[in-house]
Amino acid sequence: MNLLDRIPARRPRTKKEMIEYLSSHFRYHTLRSWNRMTSYAHNVKIYNLPRKSKDVESKAYDLVFTAQAGQIAQKHFEEFNRQTDYRYSIITSGRSGGYFVLVESERTDSGYKSECPVCGQLNYRLVPPDKNTLDYLLVRQLLKNWTNETILREPEVLNFSADGNKKQNALLRLRPIYKDFSSDAHCGRCGFEQRENLSSPVYQTAIRFNGIDGEEDFNDWEKYRLERRVKTIFLFDQIVRRTTLNFVKFVKTHRPEQAIRYLAETETIAVPINQ
Ligand SMILES: [Zn+2]
Repeated sequence: MNLLDRIPARRPRTKKEMIEYLSSHFRYHTLRSWNRMTSYAHNVKIYNLPRKSKDVESKAYDLVFTAQAGQIAQKHFEEFNRQTDYRYSIITSGRSGGYFVLVESERTDSGYKSECPVCGQLNYRLVPPDKNTLDYLLVRQLLKNWTNETILREPEVLNFSADGNKKQNALLRLRPIYKDFSSDAHCGRCGFEQRENLSSPVYQTAIRFNGIDGEEDFNDWEKYRLERRVKTIFLFDQIVRRTTLNFVKFVKTHRPEQAIRYLAETETIAVPINQ
């Protein structure tokens, strides 16, 4: 018996099968045992891994905490996030992370608009458009609190060589964001003037540890609700299956080796002052 034996090969379809599947699914605490909240889970401790030989088992203990092993789980967990529209996440729980637990999550835009390529610092403001561009000219006019009609009649805008449609579209695009521009591309952390606008939002995922279906009597559920829940839990099962099989494959094709890690430290040194 290993953890894959607990995962059905096909998705439960009938109401009876679905209720049986959900109510007999292995569960574990979402946080610590004292908060008494539990959710759908899998015991992924090494003794419970599928398709393992003695050799795999002993190597797995050395390899499980390597960065590469972490990346395997990470990749599959992100796939799960995507497939559930970021409404669910998988976390590791238990003293040595021996359980994968399903939790509710929510993805929101962090609000960051630009990033410093020198030091990686994120910034909530947009880098202003380059001087001598139409965008730069329009942002300056927008900051005067003028209407679009007034701005388009402004001589400076009228004389800018671009056709009227282009000007109008740029104005419509800039109107909702013109207050988000900072005055320059300065980075607040390292001081370099090289900030760049992000091409896509930076999202953050908030996890809820409140447990899922801890007290539910599934007999009270409508069929569509059961189906929706089963779909999520079955997907969770499949992701756990793939993660563990890939981990076993990884263990079979790697061996542990001790490598030296150099840690960066700081010390105070004396620097002569130019006088
Ligand atoms: Zn910087």
